[in-house]
Amino acid sequence: MANTKQKKIRKLKKNHSWVSLIVFVFLIFLIGSLLTVVLESMVDYVIESKISSEYQSVFNMAELYGRKDTMFSDEKNLYDMFDEEGRDYFIKDSKGNIIHSRGKNTCTNEGGKVVLSNDIKDAYLYKDSVHGYITVNAAGKIMVDLRSLYKLLSNITPEEIKNGEYDDFVGNADSIDLNAYNETDNQSFSITVNGIGDEDVVGEDITGDDDGVYIGSVVSASNQIYFKIPAWAVVNLKDGSKLYAKVIMKIDMHDMSLVGVFLAVIVVLTFILFVIVLVTVINGIVRQRRMFKVFFTDIIIDGHNWMWFLYKGEALLRKGSSAKKNYAVLNFVFVKYRNYCVCHTVEQGEKVLKKVYTLIQKNLVRKEMLAHVSNSNFAVLMKYEDEDKLKMRIQSLILELEKIDPEHVFSFQVGVDLLPVLHNEKGRVVRRKNIDIEVEYNNACTARATLADGDESGVAFFDQKLIEDQLWLDKVTEKQRFALEHEEFLVFYQPKYDPKTDELRGAEALIRWQSPELGFIPPGRFIPIFEKNGFITEIDHYMLEHVAKDQKAWLDKGCKCVPVSVNISRAHFIENDLAEQIRDTVDKVGTPHNLIEIELTESAFFDDKKAIVSTIVKLKNYGFSVSMDDFGSGYSSLNSLKDMPLDVLKLDAEFFRGENAGERGEIVVAEAIKLAKNLNMRIVAEGVEVKEQVDFLAKQDCDMIQGYYYAKPMPKNDFEQRM
Ligand code: C2E
Ligand code: CA
Ligand code: CA
Repeated sequence: MANTKQKKIRKLKKNHSWVSLIVFVFLIFLIGSLLTVVLESMVDYVIESKISSEYQSVFNMAELYGRKDTMFSDEKNLYDMFDEEGRDYFIKDSKGNIIHSRGKNTCTNEGGKVVLSNDIKDAYLYKDSVHGYITVNAAGKIMVDLRSLYKLLSNITPEEIKNGEYDDFVGNADSIDLNAYNETDNQSFSITVNGIGDEDVVGEDITGDDDGVYIGSVVSASNQIYFKIPAWAVVNLKDGSKLYAKVIMKIDMHDMSLVGVFLAVIVVLTFILFVIVLVTVINGIVRQRRMFKVFFTDIIIDGHNWMWFLYKGEALLRKGSSAKKNYAVLNFVFVKYRNYCVCHTVEQGEKVLKKVYTLIQKNLVRKEMLAHVSNSNFAVLMKYEDEDKLKMRIQSLILELEKIDPEHVFSFQVGVDLLPVLHNEKGRVVRRKNIDIEVEYNNACTARATLADGDESGVAFFDQKLIEDQLWLDKVTEKQRFALEHEEFLVFYQPKYDPKTDELRGAEALIRWQSPELGFIPPGRFIPIFEKNGFITEIDHYMLEHVAKDQKAWLDKGCKCVPVSVNISRAHFIENDLAEQIRDTVDKVGTPHNLIEIELTESAFFDDKKAIVSTIVKLKNYGFSVSMDDFGSGYSSLNSLKDMPLDVLKLDAEFFRGENAGERGEIVVAEAIKLAKNLNMRIVAEGVEVKEQVDFLAKQDCDMIQGYYYAKPMPKNDFEQRM
């Protein structure tokens, strides 16, 4: 298939799904990013806001400490005030010695400066050693390490809870349920605490010391929870000492639900969008598939069409797996389909076509293909072992097809183009990478066209010579008119001699083409083409006119002129005013009619007999002789002889060639001569090349001999010399 067609089909095939797919992926990506950003800022917001309020009170402590000399007469009063806050804290002097403390010191060395959005500067946060789930990352962002939290919670057994080992965490709950922790976002998991009643605690520290993570039930029925996560805030004091104070991030249901609602909205939105895009993509794919079905379907046959054959057939042939197999492309033709439609309606005709398609399809095996190309034409791709087997397979398929309708006998003609396995110089099988199935199918059609126009079934194989023939035919057809107008056609004369006296008695005018481009061309290479395309009638007139002119000129010169026969083709003979046309052409030149003889080929006598007889009679009445050419070459025309008032019988050259030239041949020739004599006809033997034949013919009283023994066809000047 031509590249452009292939590209177009591919484009059609790919366009839609690609666009949808890209849009789909892009949307997923977009929504995913959006979700992550929103969630992250939500979490950040919650963490930061919780920590910030705690920080504020630590800063207040630092502020008070800064004013201890002016505000407090005794340092103890300041520390009492600090202690009243209930927060664990300690103060280290510039040398690192703890100068005052309250509660347990669980501050670790892990931590650093944090960046808070509400203008609090010089804030440092350190991890708590007991339940240190708050850390600070390199960028100064506060992180809650949910993973460790989850791990800790998931390791607690109900027994441990009952034993009160984790009262810090879950009060006197019976058990805790955790859903899966999500490793990738390090954020989401939920816990449910079972068995905690109203009386257990409502947002209070269960154990009385604020040193751990606490989980309490806010509403017992729904087991709502909150948990506190401790860390240590460090603030620089004015005298170079440092205040370490325990801060607690308390996350309750309100915070959780805020994140949850946002998450839910995003999830729902994402889901809706996902469904819309998915539906669009699926719809697109379904529509495209349907479109392709239409594109590749033949509506008459309800099977595959030409486009499908081009696309799929070529793809199959190009595959590596097909390279090891011989393939043949077939042009399968239902002969006289049009005639059948005329007699039985197009609808009936199409029904037969469908049957033909089904039957061929039934005969195909895996990796073989069939398509309906147009009207009576089918394209088939077949595997084969060798040519003979393939031919037999096609012939038996034709036999089956011929009997497809009990009331009619159909015929089928098949052109075959072979694609044998290809090998490289090393003998390795090569793929048919550059195959163009359209070209191969065209070759199959060319082979098919060589079969007779008749309605007989047949199989023809393509070979390169067919292309050469076609090229030659095109060239001849293209140049014929120019050649006629420029007198490129020459008249050669082949003399006829009396074998008894060796005297010149006549001649036959034979055409030659002297083409400046194509060279000197014998008639066998162009007359059959002219006979097919109808140009022969003009050639016949051309020859007649030239012969008449030559004869007239020789007569005027005073030559001893002999009758010259001119060939009139079979195609020409059906014109009912042919005799008048011949007479007018000769009369225009002014040549006596007895110097012109008209040769009709034997096969012409099978056409409309009545018309032929009438033309012969007219020609004779005008004074022209009429001869039957190539007598005995084809079908026996003995029967026609009796009705045709002919003057001359020309024995075909075949009588004097090869096996025919033997004893039996001589008997036939002798009898033919006798027959002609009895019918009052003169006899000319054609194609005589040896002396023995001349002697024999002389003995049989043959009137004339036209053959190489005496002379080959010659240019008119040479013939003039002979006269
Ligand atoms: P044809 O009419 O049967 O012409 C006789 C052919 O036999 C000529 O071939 C001639 O050269 C050849 N021939 C004659 N004697 C011998 C011989 O002893 N041995 C051999 N081997 N051949 C011999 P040519 O000229 O090639 O013509 C071939 C055919 O072309 C003619 O067969 C005729 O059918 C057709 N043709 C030639 N000129 C014309 C024409 O002007 N008009 C038409 N319609 N057909 C023509
Ligand atoms: Ca002839
Ligand atoms: Ca002849």
